[in-house]
Amino acid sequence: MSLDELYRDVILDHYSHPRNRGVAHPADATREGANPLCGDEIRVSLRVRDGIVEDVRFEGKGCSISQASASMMTEQIKGKPVAEANRLIAAFKGMMHTPPGTEPMDDLGDLVALSGVRKFPVRVKCATLSWITLEMALDELGYGDGGGPHVNRIR
Ligand code: ZN
Repeated sequence: MSLDELYRDVILDHYSHPRNRGVAHPADATREGANPLCGDEIRVSLRVRDGIVEDVRFEGKGCSISQASASMMTEQIKGKPVAEANRLIAAFKGMMHTPPGTEPMDDLGDLVALSGVRKFPVRVKCATLSWITLEMALDELGYGDGGGPHVNRIR
């Protein structure tokens, strides 16, 4: 099995069996994002307690890449400190915006499966949609990467 086939299988598995689909109850923030170029829609809801992303869920519709990326995102972010969530957001966006063939610099786990999408620049927005939506939700809560009292308190 080639690496591309392995990556494709990971993406199709998340698309067919999405993790953390639904709405967080209760949710501290809910944000919606859309990628009109492809028709992808994502709604991300999350709850943060004591600096930990206690729950993060998504709903949406669209192509396999957008929905699989959202599923993989929730799996990676759930239960993690907000600082780690922000690190992953930055690392994932960084990976998606480097040229195809460049090895990911940061530890992204299964998320490297989405690195193959870089060969299709029009699809990069599909992969980053849920991450940008999550970033907006964290910003709304004052947990954005820009810092602030909440972020400082976590460490
Ligand atoms: Zn798409």
